[in-house]
Amino acid sequence: MSYMVLRIPHTKYYIRYTRPMPIPVNEPVITAEAKKYVNEALDAGWISSAGKYIGLFEKEFANFLGVKHAITASNGTAALHLALLALGMKEGDEVIVPAFTMIASVDAILYTGATPVFVDADPETFNIDVTHIEAKMTARTKAVMPVHLYGHSADMDPILALAKKHNVRIIEDAAEAHGARYKSRLCGSMGTINCFSFYGNKIITTGEGGMVVTDDDVLAARTRALKDLAHVPGRRFWHEEVGYNYRMTNLQAACGLGQLEHVQDFLKTKKWMAEAYAKGLSGVRGLRLPITKSYAENVHWMYAVVVENDCALSRDELCKRLAEHGIDTRPFFFSAPSMPFLSGFAQGESFPVAEDLSQRGFYLPSGLALTSDQLDAVCSAAHSILDAA
Ligand SMILES: *Cc1c(COP(=O)(O)O)cnc(C)c1O
Repeated sequence: MSYMVLRIPHTKYYIRYTRPMPIPVNEPVITAEAKKYVNEALDAGWISSAGKYIGLFEKEFANFLGVKHAITASNGTAALHLALLALGMKEGDEVIVPAFTMIASVDAILYTGATPVFVDADPETFNIDVTHIEAKMTARTKAVMPVHLYGHSADMDPILALAKKHNVRIIEDAAEAHGARYKSRLCGSMGTINCFSFYGNKIITTGEGGMVVTDDDVLAARTRALKDLAHVPGRRFWHEEVGYNYRMTNLQAACGLGQLEHVQDFLKTKKWMAEAYAKGLSGVRGLRLPITKSYAENVHWMYAVVVENDCALSRDELCKRLAEHGIDTRPFFFSAPSMPFLSGFAQGESFPVAEDLSQRGFYLPSGLALTSDQLDAVCSAAHSILDAA
């Protein structure tokens, strides 16, 4: 096999990789504009949470989504915490959340003292099964948190209707769904107050970072106060409640702005990736490829596949074989209520779909930097492993 020679940046030295470089599961693209703005922020000396890029990034992100307010946060988990706090979530309140999600959705609920109430997943979209939500509602239910997993919108109309009927709020966790749509509406623009993450593997990245978005002036003001230690306006260093330092830095916002300017290119890349995988993997034995419901415009944050029950290999065996071909993958999330620290919230119930997905799902290399050659290599490895199995 061939090897790669890479120069160590800014030195005269080279490293020779005797093994081929693995194809990373998610390699980001850092745009030239992001680098330029970060350097401008560095040169100007505005490196903390004051500086022009914070406001610019917030304004452009609000425009992108068509919402009134966008408020930067230090990460997506902090954004979720802020959104829940702004809604007044506290001990005794219940928030309905999918059993199958990234743990931050659940942790943020726990930070406020509220109780997560789990709902099983839809086997096709992996998102919250909307037919099970109403049965979980009680007099204490204050909010529902749909999560748009892997870039596919949750089925929002039934959730919006239930929220209206029962007078509860909606917090969309759109951390994996920048630019994804439900019908014609953008994910993260439908709930009462919604959140995004800009972690390194997300469609728009600031390294670490998050955003809270809302059309509600009062919730926006609460979020701004809480993320900045709850300063009382007009009285410096006087505070009347617990606040948080959940501020994003100007450097992160500069990076985010430079990424956001290219979001339509990123979404095109994702579309290309999904189409190329669907074509390259068509007919592969034992692998279920992602579906897109007619109501959704899927941005394929991750190209998420499920190993069929009749596949000759288990998910873990398949991922190991792919790794031997130099292909990096990641298993799906675990079902949250299966984790011992959360089992007390499961109310003796089981979540068979979430459990099953957690055993059989994984995602293929899906980063914005994925090349056509890399994608072809993934498809041919999958064919050679599975079609012979
Ligand atoms: C990434 C992610 C988060 C958390 O975002 P961080 O920026 O990593 O804190 C929350 N929810 C979901 C669904 C995510 O994928």
